[in-house]
Order: sequence, then C-alpha cells, then structure tokens
Amino acid sequence: MACVKGAGLVSEVFEDAAEVDDRLSGMSAIGHVRYGTSGGGGVENIQPFMFRLSSGPFAIAHNGNIVNADVLKDQLCREGAIFGSSSDTEVIAHLIHRSGRGSRHGMLDALSYAMNRLDGAVSLLVLVPGAIYACRDRYGFRPLSYGRYEDGYVFASETCALEALGIYDIHDVEPGEIVSVDKDGIHSFRFTENSLSKMCAMEYIYFARTDSTIEGTCVHTFRKNSGRILYEESPADADMVIAVPDSGLSAAIGYAEAGGLPVEMGLVKNRYVGRTFIQPSQEMRESGVRMKLSPLKSVIRGKRLVLIDDSIVRGTTSLKIVRMLREAGAAEIHVRISSPMITSPCFYGVDISSTKELLCVGKTVDEACKAIEADSLAFISEEGLLRAGSRSDLCMACFNKKYPTNLYDNKI
Ligand code: SF4
Repeated sequence: MACVKGAGLVSEVFEDAAEVDDRLSGMSAIGHVRYGTSGGGGVENIQPFMFRLSSGPFAIAHNGNIVNADVLKDQLCREGAIFGSSSDTEVIAHLIHRSGRGSRHGMLDALSYAMNRLDGAVSLLVLVPGAIYACRDRYGFRPLSYGRYEDGYVFASETCALEALGIYDIHDVEPGEIVSVDKDGIHSFRFTENSLSKMCAMEYIYFARTDSTIEGTCVHTFRKNSGRILYEESPADADMVIAVPDSGLSAAIGYAEAGGLPVEMGLVKNRYVGRTFIQPSQEMRESGVRMKLSPLKSVIRGKRLVLIDDSIVRGTTSLKIVRMLREAGAAEIHVRISSPMITSPCFYGVDISSTKELLCVGKTVDEACKAIEADSLAFISEEGLLRAGSRSDLCMACFNKKYPTNLYDNKI
C-alpha cells in the first residue's frame, strides 16, 4: 500500500502526474482533502492515515469530528496505545486494532466495533488490500455518496464529484450503515439499528457545492427555497438583490423571484483566492475579503440593495462587505441571511470553534445589525430553514444548542 500526501492545494501536492501515477498504481485508492477543525494543522495530521497490523496494512480517510475522541484517547493511552498525531482520526485505527479483528476478513466486525464506540460525526473510508469500506455515523452528520463507475465504484463526500465522472445513479451511505466493495461486488451492513437522520444544516447552507444533492435534496433548490422563505419572513424595500458569491447566489435568486426584484451582480469574486472562512488567522481573513470580492460600482451606485449571504459567523466578512458597498456608492444596504443566528460552536467538524468569536452571541438582531453597519438585518427562522428542505430532521445545534450527541468534555 503506497501513500502520497503533503501540505498545500491538491494541484500542488500532485503536481508531477507521472510520478504520482508511478507511485500510486493499483486497483483501489482513497484520498482526503483536510479541513482541519481538530488536532491542528500540522503535517502529521494530513490524511489518509496508514497503519500496519500483523494481518496487513489499512488506510483511513475521515470527514467529521469525534466528540468523545479525548475520552477514548485517555482510555486507550492507559491501555498502552501510542498516538503519532493529534488528530481524532487515529482513535479509529486504535479501536480497529483493539477489536482484535483487524484482518481483511474481520474488518467489517472491527469497523462495527469502532463505529459503535465513536460518538459524533464520522464519514469514513477504510482501504485494505482488496476492499474498501465506507461508513457513516448513526446520525449521518456528514454526507457520503457512491455510484457505479465502469467495473467498480466511486465514493465521495459530494455528489458533484461523482457527476463529474458521469455517474448519475447515486446512492447515499445511510446513517448507521457500512458499505463494502471487493472482488465479489458491493455489500451493505448495519452496525446499529439505533440511527437517526441529523444531517448538518450548514452542509446545505454553506459547505456543499450548489450542484450537489444531499440525501435526495438538491443544494441549489434548498438554497433557492430558503431565499424565497427569507423574503416571505423579512421583505425589504429595495431596488435590487445582490448575493455574496457563491453560496449566497441561489438564495438571492429565490429572494428576488419572491419579491419581484431584479437580481444583479453587485459583487464579483476573484476565483483565485480561497474561502475566507477557513483562513487560519483573523488578520488573514480580513485581508482575504478584499482580495476575494470586488463591488461592481456601475451596478450598485445610488441603489438600495438587499445583500444575501449564507451565514454570519464572526461578522468580519459581513462588515467588510457592507463598508465596501457603501464606499462603492450604495444608497442602502439591507442584509438578509439564509441561516438562523449562529450562537454556539460546532463539535461535529465545522470550524465554528469558540463562542466568544461568534458575532451573534449575546446580541439582538438590531445589535448585530449595528455591528455590521447595515441599514437592516434579518435571518431566516429555524422553521423556515426546515421548510426550505422539506425536512424535519437536520442538526441545527449551532443555532439552537440542541446537540444531538453527548458533548463529553467539550464546552460550549
Ligand atoms: S452544529 Fe451546526 S455546523 Fe455543526 S453539525 Fe450541527 S448544524 Fe452543522
């Protein structure tokens, strides 16, 4: 089993295609792009992780955050385990090892054992010689989909990755399910009957690409519906609707359609700069906003704008954008947000790490409006958000503190 990984963009790490082809020949592979929320950003935390048992090697790629990782780590260390990284993912490998069934044939039992002890968000791929296992925690916080491709199968966090390969018959790994693929084909198992559907609302609101489908709901449709409902709940007297690209675009279309307003391109995105939300420091985030977005003066000068964005986390981006639009000549700026107020951290793999960093904590909507210097501000209601997806079963803990799991030693 061979592994190529490194820090940087995928295109940088896999720069030399010939070398990668040479080193990564074979019938099956797993890959991972890290969005670090637990364990820090050190190179030792880059996935996939590879391990070697007496029965053979295996590799793991994990999306999500394990809430009881520290509790399990303490327990495993007391029993003699040694950890080579600070990532919560290594706990999974130790549990697989501890199960005493880490062989190729026993991996299913080993994974069931591990998944039944882990709490939190775990969408997982495990590679062993001759087989791949895919599983989702019993709440299904993070998506994981798959489809048939030529003589095999492809798994991915987002369906847009599968559609890019021409795969349109797409299935979800269900909460509490393990799907395995080997030379005999594809098989499904359940590691628990005690499963719930608690997909992360932020996957629909912000994370997923607009052309993805999550658990049967198209992300664009969800966002557009949320824009429509946002208009019904909080109409604004304005000349046009503009969006913070890209994740605000679909909601802006929905808002504009519902209000009979034109939707315009008031902000242009520089496609060569990454998302500000995941820049590691406040300073980098602040300079990132200006590099990432430019106002289109000819469109917005003298106009009363409705500005649609997907969320307000720290408020840094919103304040910068409102100031930028005013400098560019906007007459009024009415901000409408297609998520409820974020007032609590996430423990399931989204970088909303500290309550004190969140703009909306301890503030009324009017106070938040003043803080971002807008003329008016409104957020979609929780009920409206559920209606947007025709769902009754999303995780919305960062809006309402109703965490679906025990939080163990994690503090709000
Ligand atoms: S707390 Fe918020 S960001 Fe975290 S999983 Fe739940 S909805 Fe998603």
